[in-house]
Amino acid sequence: MNRVRCLVFNAALGPLDYRVPDGMAVEPGSVVVAPLGPRQIVGVVWEAERLPGTEVPDSKLRPLLAVLPVPPLPAPLRRLIEWCADYYLAPIASVARMALSSTAALRGGGTVTEYRLTGREPTGRLTPQRAQALDLLIDQQATIRELSEIAGVSDGVLRGMVNAGLLEPVLVDSDRPYPAPDPRHAVPDLSDQQREAAAKFVAAVEEHAFRPFLLDGVTGSGKTETYFEAIARAIGKRQQVLVLLPEIALTESFLKRFEARFGAAPVTWHSSLKSSERRRAWRAIAGGDARVVVGARSALFLPFARLGLIVVDEAHEISFKQDDGVRYNARDVAVMRARFESVPVILASATPALESLQMAEAGRYERVVLPDRFGGASLPDIAVVDLREQQPPRGRWLAPALVEALKDRLEKGEQSLLFLNRRGYAPLTLCRNCGYRFQCPNCSAWLVEHRLSRRLACHHCGHEVPTPDKCPECGEPDCLVACGPGVERIADEVAEILPEARVALVTSDTLTSPAKAAEFVEQASNKAIDVIVGTQLVTKGYHFPDLTLVGVIDADMGLEGGDLRAAERTYQQIAQVAGRAGRGEKPGEVLIQTRHPEAPVIEALASGDRDAFYAAETEARRDAGAPPFGRWAAIIVSSEEEAEAREAARAIGGTRPELPDMMILGPAPAPLSLLRGRYRYRLLVNARRSTELQRVIRAWLDPLRFPQGVRVAVDIDPYSFV
Ligand code: ADP
Ligand code: ZN
Repeated sequence: MNRVRCLVFNAALGPLDYRVPDGMAVEPGSVVVAPLGPRQIVGVVWEAERLPGTEVPDSKLRPLLAVLPVPPLPAPLRRLIEWCADYYLAPIASVARMALSSTAALRGGGTVTEYRLTGREPTGRLTPQRAQALDLLIDQQATIRELSEIAGVSDGVLRGMVNAGLLEPVLVDSDRPYPAPDPRHAVPDLSDQQREAAAKFVAAVEEHAFRPFLLDGVTGSGKTETYFEAIARAIGKRQQVLVLLPEIALTESFLKRFEARFGAAPVTWHSSLKSSERRRAWRAIAGGDARVVVGARSALFLPFARLGLIVVDEAHEISFKQDDGVRYNARDVAVMRARFESVPVILASATPALESLQMAEAGRYERVVLPDRFGGASLPDIAVVDLREQQPPRGRWLAPALVEALKDRLEKGEQSLLFLNRRGYAPLTLCRNCGYRFQCPNCSAWLVEHRLSRRLACHHCGHEVPTPDKCPECGEPDCLVACGPGVERIADEVAEILPEARVALVTSDTLTSPAKAAEFVEQASNKAIDVIVGTQLVTKGYHFPDLTLVGVIDADMGLEGGDLRAAERTYQQIAQVAGRAGRGEKPGEVLIQTRHPEAPVIEALASGDRDAFYAAETEARRDAGAPPFGRWAAIIVSSEEEAEAREAARAIGGTRPELPDMMILGPAPAPLSLLRGRYRYRLLVNARRSTELQRVIRAWLDPLRFPQGVRVAVDIDPYSFV
């Protein structure tokens, strides 16, 4: 009899065996529909010897119901899924689900009916809903459901508009091909050092073997152009390429450059795709027709048919680490995928993670260096402003030296960028009368004032309230004081000091869509902006030739959290934002405001001595047994009931294994002891590199049972220590 083992999409269930009915053909990787009790469930046929299951006698097996019309998940992807489940201690079904991330795509191609405005003038009086839809749906084409979300009106309103001739249906083929990028469209003249780097990448694409590269090039060195040559080669060989970017906000400028080089846009993949776009992209990727895919970390699990190259740009970015669901690090998974696919992978950064540098040092990655900026531009001059000597006036945050520099740029018609990694107006609001502080009811965190939207918001859970005009505790009117600065407050200060300057505020609150991001780039490039005030969103990717001054408002902020990577992160962030200055012909200047000019990371930034910083940091990590020399894992226990979380954490602590090479800290309340309404406790495991950390943790936690409301999450190689 023909029986197969299936991974079914229910994290609580193990693999299940089914009978393959006569006339049905399946192979490992086939996506199938199987019966489960009275219901149906989607699953993937898997090699039985790789997935332990329970042996059900042949006579009890139920038949598979259908094979879905998509190519089987390729073997290298199946190996990657197994690896992730094993390494990150995640249910394999949860990992596999990330590969089948478009349910619509599984049902096959076909057509979708989308709608768009006809442009016809409405007759008679418009209801407010229709007026709103007419306004918001300009240039949109999507299904009724998606349009109703965009327009903020009900399906019924839109259907009414279809009947009134205001909206028209368009039949869209969900498998229509994407325009093909042309490797010969606009071939650049590379500098000598770029050419040398590109040649290495191209040779590796040619070879089609696992070759990890660390592309370590200063800001503005033209890293993108070099890896574009490798992409061109892969396209020429009719292979596919995956480019991972840390944030969708960066995608817009990347798309422009890509199109200029290759004459067609790449296929994009991120969480805000419409479901019809998702279906089309998924099918084109699985069929091998989507040549180049640019995506966020979730793109890593797409079922590429003929992958030839992976690029991770800004590879040091911490947003590659996913901190819920399957807790994986996309940078590391990218390297593993390249290994299973036998293809080269390029990790590009001007400020590589220490872990990556260490891999290069150990000879496991090939380091390719671009030491100079492209076109003869020089790196900016970096100076420190000691806030203990140069105090800003009360209630202000810009020291006199920075104010002078801003005035100077404005007079010269050059642009400036002020960086502060804090959204909103002020991080804490309190009552002058009774001392009441606004705190999130769901999290151990202060509410952040957002003056633009007149709200107090929690940056952890999204809880929001309108800013009240009196204190909720003592009832006193007009007594609320904003404490500390956020970017909105800095923008206000600039507007007061330089009333004639055109100021742009750039945060995730203002660049809310790709269109807004494109508009910002357009304005900044056309010099319609004098001063940009922004969060980490503006630290990387952008290239504005007339931007000659960068001011870092508070270099000490990142150091306060005190986690293992605090210094490294501060270094990266400031080096990246500094890298926005002086990219054109005019030289750049960077002013770093700090109260700790003597801190090693600030000294390294000011003297431009990256090697000294990394060397000192490496030694500190070695001493602490921290990555890359030792390994960490966090165990996070949470529940809506404080006592339940505490008890569960104690139970885990009580059965801790005693091993010579392993240290276990906690359980203790997490620094964020309340998050989204859940009380949190943590244990931290520190082990030698050689320890089989996952095996130990599995053996430790697997036998334990907890009440229903308790969640126990394991974070391997954690980035967040809150
Ligand atoms: P990085 O990513 O290393 O910071 P970029 O790739 O953004 O640097 O390059 C900096 C600028 O130099 C960009 O405007 C880019 O278009 C330009 N550039 C780089 N290499 C070339 C080249 N070979 N020919 C023309 N322009 C180039
Ligand atoms: Zn909250």
